[in-house]
Amino acid sequence: MRMDAGASRLTLGYLLLATLWVLLSDQLLAGLDLSVRLEERLQSFKGLAFVAFTGTWLYLLLHCHARARAQTWLSLSANTERLDLALDAARDGLWDWDPARQQVFFSPSYAALLGMTQAELGNTREAWAARLHPDDCEQALHALLTFDHTQHYENTHRLRHRDGSYRWILSRGRLLLDAQGKPTRFIGIASDITRRRADEESLRQAAAVFDATQEGVLVTDRALRVVHVNPAFTRITGYGAAEIIGQQPSLLKSGRHDSAFYHGLWHALQSRGAWSGEVWNRRKSGEIYPQWQNIRSIRDERGEVSHYVAVFSDISALKRSQHELDYLAHHDPLSNLPNRLLFTERVEHALERATVEQPGAVLLIDLDHFKHINESLGHNIGDLLLKAVGDRLGTLLDKGMTLARLGGDEFGLLCERCQDATQAASLARRLLSTLGAPFDLNDHEFYISASIGISLFPGDAENLEQVMRNADSALFKAKSSGREGYAFYVHELTEFARLRVELVSALHHALENHELRVYYQPLHDLASGALIGAEALVRWQHPQRGLVPPGEFIPVAEDSGLIGAIDAWVLEQACRQMVLWQEQAEAPRFVAVNVSSRQFGRDGLDRQVARVLADTGLDPARLELEVTESAIMANPDAAQALLHRLRALGVRLAIDDFGTGYSSLARLKRLPVHKLKLDQSFVRGLPHDSDDVAITRAVVALGHSLELKVLAEGIERPEQVEFLRQIGCDYGQGYLFGRPQPVAPALAVPPLASRRPVTVAPRTS
Ligand code: C2E
Ligand code: MG
Ligand code: MG
Repeated sequence: MRMDAGASRLTLGYLLLATLWVLLSDQLLAGLDLSVRLEERLQSFKGLAFVAFTGTWLYLLLHCHARARAQTWLSLSANTERLDLALDAARDGLWDWDPARQQVFFSPSYAALLGMTQAELGNTREAWAARLHPDDCEQALHALLTFDHTQHYENTHRLRHRDGSYRWILSRGRLLLDAQGKPTRFIGIASDITRRRADEESLRQAAAVFDATQEGVLVTDRALRVVHVNPAFTRITGYGAAEIIGQQPSLLKSGRHDSAFYHGLWHALQSRGAWSGEVWNRRKSGEIYPQWQNIRSIRDERGEVSHYVAVFSDISALKRSQHELDYLAHHDPLSNLPNRLLFTERVEHALERATVEQPGAVLLIDLDHFKHINESLGHNIGDLLLKAVGDRLGTLLDKGMTLARLGGDEFGLLCERCQDATQAASLARRLLSTLGAPFDLNDHEFYISASIGISLFPGDAENLEQVMRNADSALFKAKSSGREGYAFYVHELTEFARLRVELVSALHHALENHELRVYYQPLHDLASGALIGAEALVRWQHPQRGLVPPGEFIPVAEDSGLIGAIDAWVLEQACRQMVLWQEQAEAPRFVAVNVSSRQFGRDGLDRQVARVLADTGLDPARLELEVTESAIMANPDAAQALLHRLRALGVRLAIDDFGTGYSSLARLKRLPVHKLKLDQSFVRGLPHDSDDVAITRAVVALGHSLELKVLAEGIERPEQVEFLRQIGCDYGQGYLFGRPQPVAPALAVPPLASRRPVTVAPRTS
């Protein structure tokens, strides 16, 4: 427009100047009053001058105009280039719609968004609309028609690419209106947002997964502050997002793992960027539970750790089912007992720990003639019976024992700590006797029997296979020797153990049936020959075997735990006897009672003695307790303390069988005893055996130097007394003075057992 005004102004100026020149230049010449010739010549010159002037003027004008145009063109093309570059950099396309001509300009970059050239894309709205995705067509066209003209236009739609795929296009633009509000131009840019849409889509999906997943997710920043958790995290841990965000994940620690565990975890995270494993954590409720956890570190664009993400699942249910599976794999479903697999595992384990001092035993228990029951009464009854057998055997289990059903009618019993063959045999007898009682199943009464094979380890076998094979051949032996019995892998053991077991049960009977007796042997003063005391010695009046000496049953009683009851009975009997003797003239002044080394190692002997003294009313000074040297030396400190407590009661104390137990002199010096009883093995060779002579002299001298009295045991001949007298031995005991014998019925106390039942302590081993 400005160019047009300039052009008319120039033209008008020129017309005015030319007109003025035509009108005025002739008059000026006429006014000069020149000659005609000169005037003619000037007339020509004037014409030429006008042409030259206007020609120069025109030239200058055109030159200026051309320069201005060039300038404008330059800046225009720079702008266009800038715009193109900007659009290209942004990968955006330009569109420009001319409503008047109903034409659309699509920039080359716009066409490129769809893989086309401008020409291919065309320049009409229809061509554009034809490329719209059918699902977007309606809304895109509707948006064009209805958008608020005062606002910017913005619409997202899909356009078909040349390759047939659809691209998400974000189109933004502005409608320009003229003074009358008529649209003059609609211009804008279009961007391909297909990738962004896909990213947003996958982000949305990830967020949905994050929220919906069953796995707990916890995200921390690099300083290990929790920045994000998902709903599953809250469900599993009990902590709401608000409670945990900003905290350290160590809040969840259970304390079950040591620092080495966490060290390993961090090492893996730092070196590999990931760690996975089982972690025990604590819920808000305080419950500790197992998780399977995957932890990853996330690095930023500079490669530095920016976040840690932990994804975990609560595996407590899994653990439970694993446990159940494990149980199923290791147990027999019928009896609920461990099966062969678990049994052999335990035997193997027991084998590893067993030593000669601490042996173990495997007992294979096989029901006799079970097949007949199954065949005649059916498998249901058979199953019920097996279950009942398992239940019944189970009642005999002690600590360290495993009962298993190995298959069919075979059961196995592992006894991890079995003192010796006797204990295994007594266990076998108890098993057999418990099975001997009738079974009541479905209103039927059954009597069954079983055979047991016993293998001891590590004595008989060193590995699992040997143990099981030995037990199996022992079982075969038991079956072939008439069933309803037990056998050891080694025959001699069977016999020995049988005798011992029989002895133990017979001893039980002896106590219950009052078959025990107390015999007394006199103790004499060697110098004066006077009776000073009597030693109580237990005897067993066996109904068939007659009088059994203590040497035959005391060791068995000690092993089986019966010794406690026997000693208690003898002590009380002897004290009562002494109370009676007190009133007679020619009677011992004190009674000596033997205390088993087993009793001596236990607490409570002093209390027991005090109680008996109180019950019987015996003066403590009239009771002497004999403790063997070996019992003291087995646990010297405890023995010394016990002896002090006993002495505090006022009773007298003697060390029995002195010389056989390797007492240390230092120890002996501190023992609060009154008497040493020199063992009869040293007295036997007196006075001729030089060793016995030397030992006896030394013991007497030692005793006296410690201010103890010395008594010699087992004196059978007068020359022994003579020698002992010579060397100053104080007292003597032996067949020469008198054998152990019962008190004449008139002077004896009635048996205690009739007044009080004897309680038998259970064996503890
Ligand atoms: P001990 O306490 O050393 O008892 C002495 C043993 O020597 C007694 O044997 C006795 O009969 C025997 N004896 C005594 N004089 C002679 C002799 O001149 N020649 C020979 N050859 N032997 C003689 P006994 O009664 O068989 O007792 C043996 C051991 O049994 C006792 O040795 C004692 O350790 C233990 N004992 C006896 N009664 C009891 C008891 O009631 N409780 C406990 N725990 N042990 C007892
Ligand atoms: Mg004795
Ligand atoms: Mg003795």
